[in-house]
Amino acid sequence: NDTPSTAPTSPSGDELVALDRRHLLHPWTPHGVSEQLMIVAGQGCEVTDAHGRTYLDGRSGQFNATLGYGNKRVLDALSEQAGKLMTYALLGASNEPAVLLGARLAELLGEPLTRTLFCNSGSESTEAALRIVRMYHAISGRPERTTIISLADCYHGTTTAATAMMANPMAWTGCGPRPEGFVQIPSPTRCGACAAGAEHEECVVPGPEALEEAILAAGADTVAAFFVEPVLGVGGIRPLPDGYLRAVREICDRHGVLLVLDEVTTGLGRTGAWFAHQREGITPDLVTMAKGLTSGYAPLAAVTMTERIADVFATDPMLGGLRHGHTTSGHGLGTAVALSVLRVIEEDGLVENAAAMGDRLQSGLREQIGSLDGVRDVRGLGLMVGVEFDSMARGFEVQAACAAAGVIVRCEGTVLSVAPPLIVTAEQVDRIVGALRDAVAASTGEFPGV
Ligand code: PMP
Repeated sequence: NDTPSTAPTSPSGDELVALDRRHLLHPWTPHGVSEQLMIVAGQGCEVTDAHGRTYLDGRSGQFNATLGYGNKRVLDALSEQAGKLMTYALLGASNEPAVLLGARLAELLGEPLTRTLFCNSGSESTEAALRIVRMYHAISGRPERTTIISLADCYHGTTTAATAMMANPMAWTGCGPRPEGFVQIPSPTRCGACAAGAEHEECVVPGPEALEEAILAAGADTVAAFFVEPVLGVGGIRPLPDGYLRAVREICDRHGVLLVLDEVTTGLGRTGAWFAHQREGITPDLVTMAKGLTSGYAPLAAVTMTERIADVFATDPMLGGLRHGHTTSGHGLGTAVALSVLRVIEEDGLVENAAAMGDRLQSGLREQIGSLDGVRDVRGLGLMVGVEFDSMARGFEVQAACAAAGVIVRCEGTVLSVAPPLIVTAEQVDRIVGALRDAVAASTGEFPGV
Protein backbone atom coordinates (compact mmCIF):
# COMPACT_ATOMS: atom_id res chain seq x y z
CA ASN A 1 0.00 0.00 0.00
CA ASP A 2 1.78 3.13 -1.19
CA THR A 3 -0.95 5.60 -0.09
CA PRO A 4 0.80 8.15 2.12
CA SER A 5 -0.39 8.00 5.69
CA THR A 6 -2.19 11.13 6.88
CA ALA A 7 -2.27 10.01 10.50
CA PRO A 8 -0.45 12.62 12.62
CA THR A 9 2.66 11.27 14.25
CA SER A 10 3.83 12.68 17.58
CA PRO A 11 7.26 14.23 17.33
CA SER A 12 9.97 12.47 19.34
CA GLY A 13 11.49 14.12 22.39
CA ASP A 14 14.60 15.06 20.41
CA GLU A 15 12.49 16.56 17.62
CA LEU A 16 10.58 18.66 20.15
CA VAL A 17 13.84 19.94 21.63
CA ALA A 18 15.10 20.87 18.14
CA LEU A 19 11.84 22.64 17.27
CA ASP A 20 11.94 24.45 20.60
CA ARG A 21 15.45 25.75 19.85
CA ARG A 22 14.41 26.96 16.42
CA HIS A 23 11.03 28.49 17.18
CA LEU A 24 10.67 29.59 20.80
CA LEU A 25 12.05 32.37 22.92
CA HIS A 26 11.79 31.40 26.58
CA PRO A 27 11.02 33.96 29.27
CA TRP A 28 14.00 34.80 31.52
CA THR A 29 15.99 31.72 30.41
CA PRO A 30 19.48 31.57 28.91
CA HIS A 31 19.08 30.52 25.27
CA GLY A 32 19.54 26.85 24.43
CA VAL A 33 20.19 25.51 27.93
CA SER A 34 21.01 21.87 27.40
CA GLU A 35 19.15 20.39 30.38
CA GLN A 36 15.84 22.04 29.54
CA LEU A 37 12.86 19.92 30.57
CA MET A 38 10.30 19.10 27.87
CA ILE A 39 7.21 18.25 29.89
CA VAL A 40 4.36 16.52 28.05
CA ALA A 41 2.04 15.16 30.75
CA GLY A 42 1.23 15.42 34.43
CA GLN A 43 -0.82 13.77 37.15
CA GLY A 44 -0.97 14.79 40.81
CA CYS A 45 2.45 16.08 41.88
CA GLU A 46 4.23 14.28 39.05
CA VAL A 47 5.10 15.31 35.50
CA THR A 48 6.46 13.25 32.61
CA ASP A 49 8.89 14.48 29.98
CA ALA A 50 9.06 13.74 26.26
CA HIS A 51 11.58 10.96 26.91
CA GLY A 52 9.17 9.18 29.26
CA ARG A 53 10.92 10.16 32.49
CA THR A 54 8.69 10.97 35.46
CA TYR A 55 9.58 13.64 38.04
CA LEU A 56 8.17 14.83 41.33
CA ASP A 57 7.49 18.51 40.66
CA GLY A 58 9.11 20.26 43.62
CA ARG A 59 8.46 23.73 42.19
CA SER A 60 4.81 23.47 41.01
CA GLY A 61 5.73 24.57 37.49
CA GLN A 62 6.51 28.20 38.18
CA PHE A 63 5.02 28.18 41.73
CA ASN A 64 1.57 28.07 40.12
CA ALA A 65 0.38 24.43 39.93
CA THR A 66 -0.94 24.44 43.49
CA LEU A 67 -3.34 21.52 42.88
CA GLY A 68 -0.82 19.58 40.85
CA TYR A 69 -1.85 18.21 37.46
CA GLY A 70 -4.95 16.54 36.02
CA ASN A 71 -7.38 17.50 38.80
CA LYS A 72 -10.71 16.07 37.62
CA ARG A 73 -12.91 18.58 39.47
CA VAL A 74 -11.11 21.47 37.82
CA LEU A 75 -11.13 19.88 34.36
CA ASP A 76 -14.87 19.13 34.71
CA ALA A 77 -15.60 22.73 35.74
CA LEU A 78 -13.59 23.94 32.76
CA SER A 79 -15.46 21.81 30.22
CA GLU A 80 -18.84 22.57 31.80
CA GLN A 81 -18.23 26.32 31.44
CA ALA A 82 -16.88 25.85 27.90
CA GLY A 83 -20.04 23.98 26.91
CA LYS A 84 -22.28 26.69 28.35
CA LEU A 85 -20.52 29.92 27.43
CA MET A 86 -16.77 30.23 26.99
CA THR A 87 -16.87 33.88 27.94
CA TYR A 88 -18.51 37.23 27.49
CA ALA A 89 -16.30 40.32 27.82
CA LEU A 90 -16.85 42.58 30.82
CA LEU A 91 -16.73 45.85 28.87
CA GLY A 92 -20.27 47.13 29.28
CA ALA A 93 -21.53 43.61 30.10
CA SER A 94 -20.85 40.84 32.58
CA ASN A 95 -20.55 37.07 32.87
CA GLU A 96 -21.49 34.54 35.55
CA PRO A 97 -18.16 32.97 36.64
CA ALA A 98 -16.44 36.37 36.84
CA VAL A 99 -19.16 37.71 39.15
CA LEU A 100 -19.12 34.60 41.34
CA LEU A 101 -15.33 34.68 41.57
CA GLY A 102 -15.34 38.38 42.54
CA ALA A 103 -17.79 37.54 45.33
CA ARG A 104 -15.69 34.56 46.50
CA LEU A 105 -12.49 36.63 46.62
CA ALA A 106 -14.31 39.25 48.70
CA GLU A 107 -15.23 36.48 51.18
CA LEU A 108 -11.68 35.18 51.34
CA LEU A 109 -10.08 38.61 51.73
CA GLY A 110 -12.77 40.08 54.01
CA GLU A 111 -14.14 43.62 54.31
CA PRO A 112 -13.20 46.17 53.08
CA LEU A 113 -11.40 44.33 50.21
CA THR A 114 -14.51 43.72 48.16
CA ARG A 115 -13.97 44.90 44.57
CA THR A 116 -11.94 43.04 41.92
CA LEU A 117 -10.57 43.83 38.47
CA PHE A 118 -9.44 40.79 36.47
CA CYS A 119 -6.46 40.56 34.14
CA ASN A 120 -4.36 37.78 32.63
CA SER A 121 -0.93 37.67 34.23
CA GLY A 122 0.78 38.73 37.42
CA SER A 123 2.58 41.49 35.54
CA GLU A 124 -0.71 42.87 34.29
CA SER A 125 -2.06 42.88 37.84
CA THR A 126 0.94 44.99 38.89
CA GLU A 127 0.40 47.33 35.96
CA ALA A 128 -3.30 47.63 36.79
CA ALA A 129 -2.63 48.29 40.49
CA LEU A 130 -0.10 50.95 39.58
CA ARG A 131 -2.46 52.81 37.25
CA ILE A 132 -5.33 52.40 39.73
CA VAL A 133 -3.40 53.99 42.62
CA ARG A 134 -2.27 56.93 40.51
CA MET A 135 -5.75 57.50 39.01
CA TYR A 136 -7.34 57.12 42.45
CA HIS A 137 -5.19 59.94 43.83
CA ALA A 138 -5.69 62.13 40.75
CA ILE A 139 -9.48 61.76 40.77
CA SER A 140 -9.45 62.45 44.52
CA GLY A 141 -7.75 65.82 43.92
CA ARG A 142 -4.14 64.77 44.60
CA PRO A 143 -2.64 64.49 41.10
CA GLU A 144 0.88 65.12 42.43
CA ARG A 145 0.83 61.75 44.26
CA THR A 146 2.52 59.63 41.59
CA THR A 147 5.72 58.17 43.09
CA ILE A 148 5.81 54.41 43.55
CA ILE A 149 8.09 52.97 46.24
CA SER A 150 9.20 49.32 46.22
CA LEU A 151 11.89 47.08 47.69
CA ALA A 152 15.20 46.96 45.84
CA ASP A 153 15.06 43.16 45.46
CA CYS A 154 11.40 42.97 44.47
CA TYR A 155 9.90 41.27 41.46
CA HIS A 156 6.50 42.50 40.37
CA GLY A 157 6.52 41.42 36.73
CA THR A 158 7.91 42.12 33.33
CA THR A 159 5.98 45.09 31.93
CA THR A 160 7.77 48.42 31.59
CA ALA A 161 6.28 49.81 34.80
CA ALA A 162 6.75 46.57 36.77
CA THR A 163 10.42 46.38 35.81
CA ALA A 164 10.83 50.06 36.75
CA MET A 165 10.18 48.98 40.35
CA MET A 166 13.25 46.70 40.39
CA ALA A 167 16.79 47.76 41.27
CA ASN A 168 18.16 44.64 39.56
CA PRO A 169 20.11 45.73 36.44
CA MET A 170 18.79 42.62 34.62
CA ALA A 171 15.48 44.48 34.34
CA TRP A 172 16.90 47.61 32.73
CA THR A 173 20.26 47.24 31.06
CA GLY A 174 19.89 48.00 27.36
CA CYS A 175 16.18 48.55 27.71
CA GLY A 176 15.85 52.18 28.76
CA PRO A 177 14.80 54.87 29.11
CA ARG A 178 13.42 53.93 32.46
CA PRO A 179 10.18 55.72 33.41
CA GLU A 180 10.41 58.33 36.14
CA GLY A 181 8.60 58.23 39.45
CA PHE A 182 9.99 55.00 40.93
CA VAL A 183 12.00 54.79 44.15
CA GLN A 184 13.50 51.65 45.70
CA ILE A 185 14.34 51.14 49.36
CA PRO A 186 16.64 48.45 50.79
CA SER A 187 14.96 45.09 51.41
CA PRO A 188 14.35 44.37 55.10
CA THR A 189 15.74 40.85 54.91
CA ARG A 190 19.10 39.23 55.00
CA CYS A 191 20.38 39.14 51.46
CA GLY A 192 20.09 36.04 49.33
CA ALA A 193 23.12 36.68 47.17
CA CYS A 194 25.33 39.11 49.01
CA ALA A 195 27.09 41.24 46.42
CA ALA A 196 29.59 42.28 49.10
CA GLY A 197 30.27 38.67 50.09
CA ALA A 198 29.49 39.47 53.75
CA GLU A 199 28.57 36.80 56.25
CA HIS A 200 24.91 36.99 57.28
CA GLU A 201 25.86 37.84 60.86
CA GLU A 202 27.62 40.99 59.64
CA CYS A 203 24.72 42.22 57.50
CA VAL A 204 22.93 45.37 58.55
CA VAL A 205 19.26 44.74 57.84
CA PRO A 206 17.24 47.93 57.39
CA GLY A 207 13.82 47.98 59.03
CA PRO A 208 10.54 49.68 58.07
CA GLU A 209 12.06 53.08 58.90
CA ALA A 210 13.65 52.96 55.42
CA LEU A 211 10.14 53.38 53.98
CA GLU A 212 9.39 56.44 56.11
CA GLU A 213 12.74 57.98 55.19
CA ALA A 214 12.03 57.45 51.48
CA ILE A 215 8.54 58.93 51.78
CA LEU A 216 9.91 62.02 53.52
CA ALA A 217 12.80 62.33 51.06
CA ALA A 218 10.45 62.19 48.06
CA GLY A 219 8.00 64.57 49.76
CA ALA A 220 5.11 62.80 51.49
CA ASP A 221 2.46 64.41 49.32
CA THR A 222 4.09 63.11 46.11
CA VAL A 223 3.99 59.39 47.00
CA ALA A 224 1.16 57.25 45.60
CA ALA A 225 1.87 53.78 46.97
CA PHE A 226 4.27 51.25 48.42
CA PHE A 227 4.29 47.87 46.63
CA VAL A 228 5.60 44.84 48.52
CA GLU A 229 5.69 41.01 48.33
CA PRO A 230 5.16 39.19 51.67
CA VAL A 231 7.99 36.86 50.61
CA LEU A 232 10.54 38.21 48.14
CA GLY A 233 10.25 35.41 45.61
CA VAL A 234 12.50 36.01 42.61
CA GLY A 235 14.61 38.09 45.03
CA GLY A 236 15.69 34.90 46.83
CA ILE A 237 12.71 33.41 48.75
CA ARG A 238 13.14 35.91 51.57
CA PRO A 239 10.13 36.21 53.91
CA LEU A 240 9.63 39.69 55.37
CA PRO A 241 10.48 39.79 59.07
CA ASP A 242 7.58 39.43 61.53
CA GLY A 243 5.97 42.78 62.20
CA TYR A 244 7.31 44.45 59.03
CA LEU A 245 3.94 44.59 57.28
CA ARG A 246 2.23 45.95 60.41
CA ALA A 247 4.87 48.67 60.67
CA VAL A 248 4.68 49.70 56.99
CA ARG A 249 0.86 49.73 57.24
CA GLU A 250 1.15 52.34 59.99
CA ILE A 251 3.73 54.37 58.08
CA CYS A 252 1.57 54.36 54.92
CA ASP A 253 -1.48 55.46 56.92
CA ARG A 254 0.47 58.27 58.55
CA HIS A 255 1.48 59.69 55.17
CA GLY A 256 -1.60 58.99 53.03
CA VAL A 257 0.29 56.37 50.98
CA LEU A 258 -1.56 53.30 49.67
CA LEU A 259 -0.23 49.83 50.52
CA VAL A 260 -0.28 47.31 47.66
CA LEU A 261 0.41 43.67 48.57
CA ASP A 262 1.76 41.59 45.69
CA GLU A 263 0.38 38.13 46.49
CA VAL A 264 0.94 36.80 42.95
CA THR A 265 3.03 33.94 44.35
CA THR A 266 2.10 33.93 48.04
CA GLY A 267 -1.69 34.18 47.62
CA LEU A 268 -4.26 31.38 47.66
CA GLY A 269 -2.67 29.00 50.12
CA ARG A 270 1.02 28.84 49.21
CA THR A 271 2.26 30.10 52.59
CA GLY A 272 -0.18 28.10 54.74
CA ALA A 273 -2.74 30.94 54.86
CA TRP A 274 -5.24 32.01 52.19
CA PHE A 275 -3.21 35.21 51.82
CA ALA A 276 0.18 35.77 53.46
CA HIS A 277 -0.70 39.27 54.70
CA GLN A 278 -3.51 37.75 56.80
CA ARG A 279 -0.85 36.15 58.98
CA GLU A 280 0.09 39.68 60.10
CA GLY A 281 -3.51 40.77 60.65
CA ILE A 282 -3.22 43.80 58.38
CA THR A 283 -5.52 45.11 55.65
CA PRO A 284 -3.80 46.33 52.49
CA ASP A 285 -5.50 48.82 50.16
CA LEU A 286 -4.98 46.59 47.12
CA VAL A 287 -3.95 42.95 46.68
CA THR A 288 -2.65 41.48 43.42
CA MET A 289 -2.79 37.74 42.74
CA ALA A 290 -2.26 35.27 39.87
CA LYS A 291 -0.42 31.91 39.84
CA GLY A 292 -2.35 29.84 42.45
CA LEU A 293 -5.63 31.56 41.57
CA THR A 294 -6.13 29.04 38.77
CA SER A 295 -3.44 26.60 39.86
CA GLY A 296 -2.03 27.18 36.39
CA TYR A 297 -5.00 25.50 34.66
CA ALA A 298 -5.75 28.79 32.86
CA PRO A 299 -4.25 32.28 32.70
CA LEU A 300 -5.89 34.66 35.16
CA ALA A 301 -4.84 37.39 37.55
CA ALA A 302 -6.72 39.82 39.73
CA VAL A 303 -6.44 43.06 41.66
CA THR A 304 -8.79 43.28 44.63
CA MET A 305 -9.18 46.67 46.29
CA THR A 306 -11.13 48.39 49.00
CA GLU A 307 -14.56 49.77 48.26
CA ARG A 308 -13.25 53.26 49.10
CA ILE A 309 -10.77 53.08 46.20
CA ALA A 310 -13.12 51.41 43.74
CA ASP A 311 -15.92 53.90 44.41
CA VAL A 312 -13.75 56.85 43.41
CA PHE A 313 -13.70 55.66 39.78
CA ALA A 314 -17.43 56.28 39.46
CA THR A 315 -16.61 59.97 39.87
CA ASP A 316 -13.87 60.03 37.19
CA PRO A 317 -14.70 63.15 35.14
CA MET A 318 -13.39 61.59 31.89
CA LEU A 319 -15.27 58.26 31.92
CA GLY A 320 -17.25 57.83 35.11
CA GLY A 321 -15.48 54.47 35.50
CA LEU A 322 -12.06 52.80 35.51
CA ARG A 323 -9.89 53.68 32.49
CA HIS A 324 -8.09 50.34 32.41
CA GLY A 325 -8.65 46.69 31.44
CA HIS A 326 -8.55 44.09 28.68
CA THR A 327 -10.85 42.28 26.25
CA THR A 328 -10.06 39.14 28.21
CA SER A 329 -10.51 40.68 31.72
CA GLY A 330 -12.62 38.10 33.59
CA HIS A 331 -12.52 35.53 30.76
CA GLY A 332 -14.83 32.61 31.54
CA LEU A 333 -12.08 30.03 31.14
CA GLY A 334 -9.92 31.53 33.89
CA THR A 335 -12.73 32.57 36.22
CA ALA A 336 -14.61 29.23 36.05
CA VAL A 337 -11.34 27.38 36.65
CA ALA A 338 -10.47 29.67 39.57
CA LEU A 339 -13.87 29.10 41.20
CA SER A 340 -13.32 25.35 41.07
CA VAL A 341 -9.70 25.65 42.26
CA LEU A 342 -10.80 27.66 45.31
CA ARG A 343 -13.51 25.06 45.99
CA VAL A 344 -10.99 22.21 45.86
CA ILE A 345 -8.57 24.09 48.15
CA GLU A 346 -11.37 24.51 50.69
CA GLU A 347 -12.93 21.02 50.37
CA ASP A 348 -9.58 19.27 50.63
CA GLY A 349 -8.17 21.45 53.44
CA LEU A 350 -5.18 22.40 51.30
CA VAL A 351 -4.33 25.62 53.14
CA GLU A 352 -3.92 23.51 56.29
CA ASN A 353 -1.96 20.89 54.33
CA ALA A 354 0.36 23.60 52.99
CA ALA A 355 1.01 24.79 56.55
CA ALA A 356 1.72 21.26 57.85
CA MET A 357 3.78 20.14 54.85
CA GLY A 358 5.61 23.48 54.81
CA ASP A 359 6.69 22.88 58.42
CA ARG A 360 7.80 19.35 57.54
CA LEU A 361 9.73 20.54 54.48
CA GLN A 362 11.46 23.39 56.29
CA SER A 363 12.40 21.40 59.38
CA GLY A 364 13.49 18.42 57.25
CA LEU A 365 15.77 20.64 55.15
CA ARG A 366 17.18 22.45 58.19
CA GLU A 367 17.94 19.16 59.93
CA GLN A 368 19.33 17.31 56.94
CA ILE A 369 21.23 19.96 54.98
CA GLY A 370 21.22 23.12 57.12
CA SER A 371 24.67 22.50 58.57
CA LEU A 372 26.35 20.99 55.51
CA ASP A 373 29.23 22.85 53.88
CA GLY A 374 28.09 25.02 51.03
CA VAL A 375 24.63 25.70 52.50
CA ARG A 376 24.34 29.27 53.80
CA ASP A 377 20.67 29.36 54.78
CA VAL A 378 17.35 27.50 54.69
CA ARG A 379 14.31 29.78 55.00
CA GLY A 380 10.71 30.10 53.90
CA LEU A 381 7.06 30.53 54.69
CA GLY A 382 4.72 27.56 54.32
CA LEU A 383 5.42 25.69 51.08
CA MET A 384 7.66 28.43 49.70
CA VAL A 385 11.18 27.51 50.75
CA GLY A 386 14.62 28.73 49.69
CA VAL A 387 18.00 27.06 50.14
CA GLU A 388 20.87 29.50 49.73
CA PHE A 389 24.23 28.10 48.60
CA ASP A 390 27.71 29.56 48.75
CA SER A 391 27.93 29.71 44.93
CA MET A 392 25.76 29.60 41.83
CA ALA A 393 27.77 26.64 40.57
CA ARG A 394 26.81 24.58 43.63
CA GLY A 395 23.16 25.54 43.25
CA PHE A 396 23.05 24.38 39.64
CA GLU A 397 24.94 21.20 40.46
CA VAL A 398 22.36 20.40 43.16
CA GLN A 399 19.48 21.24 40.79
CA ALA A 400 20.90 18.89 38.14
CA ALA A 401 21.52 16.09 40.66
CA CYS A 402 17.94 16.40 41.96
CA ALA A 403 16.58 16.21 38.40
CA ALA A 404 18.68 13.10 37.78
CA ALA A 405 17.09 11.64 40.95
CA GLY A 406 13.62 12.49 39.62
CA VAL A 407 12.89 15.65 41.62
CA ILE A 408 12.44 19.05 39.98
CA VAL A 409 13.65 22.07 41.94
CA ARG A 410 14.96 25.36 40.53
CA CYS A 411 17.99 27.46 41.26
CA GLU A 412 18.11 31.17 40.46
CA GLY A 413 21.38 32.83 41.36
CA THR A 414 22.58 31.16 44.56
CA VAL A 415 19.08 30.35 45.86
CA LEU A 416 17.31 27.11 45.07
CA SER A 417 13.55 27.27 45.49
CA VAL A 418 11.42 24.39 46.70
CA ALA A 419 7.67 24.90 46.34
CA PRO A 420 5.74 21.68 45.66
CA PRO A 421 1.97 21.67 45.02
CA LEU A 422 -0.27 22.22 48.07
CA ILE A 423 -1.49 18.62 47.67
CA VAL A 424 1.98 17.26 48.44
CA THR A 425 2.09 14.32 50.88
CA ALA A 426 4.48 13.69 53.78
CA GLU A 427 6.13 10.87 51.78
CA GLN A 428 6.69 13.21 48.82
CA VAL A 429 8.10 15.95 51.07
CA ASP A 430 10.52 13.41 52.51
CA ARG A 431 11.52 12.38 48.98
CA ILE A 432 12.33 16.00 48.09
CA VAL A 433 14.36 16.43 51.29
CA GLY A 434 16.21 13.16 50.63
CA ALA A 435 17.05 14.13 47.05
CA LEU A 436 18.39 17.49 48.18
CA ARG A 437 20.40 15.93 51.01
CA ASP A 438 22.04 13.44 48.64
CA ALA A 439 22.69 16.12 46.02
CA VAL A 440 24.26 18.57 48.47
CA ALA A 441 26.30 15.81 50.14
CA ALA A 442 27.61 14.66 46.77
CA SER A 443 28.54 18.21 45.83
CA THR A 444 30.49 18.83 49.04
CA GLY A 445 31.85 15.35 49.57
CA GLU A 446 30.02 15.08 52.92
CA PHE A 447 27.88 12.10 53.75
CA PRO A 448 25.65 12.88 56.72
CA GLY A 449 24.86 9.98 59.01
CA VAL A 450 27.43 7.72 57.36
N1 PMP B 1 4.73 39.33 41.15
C1 PMP B 1 5.42 38.33 41.72
C2 PMP B 1 5.66 38.37 43.19
C3 PMP B 1 5.89 37.27 40.94
O1 PMP B 1 6.61 36.28 41.51
C4 PMP B 1 5.61 37.27 39.56
C5 PMP B 1 6.06 36.12 38.65
N2 PMP B 1 7.17 35.41 39.03
C6 PMP B 1 4.91 38.35 39.01
C7 PMP B 1 4.46 39.34 39.83
C8 PMP B 1 4.61 38.39 37.54
O2 PMP B 1 3.68 37.44 37.20
P1 PMP B 1 3.58 36.90 35.70
O3 PMP B 1 4.81 36.10 35.44
O4 PMP B 1 2.32 36.09 35.69
O5 PMP B 1 3.48 38.09 34.80
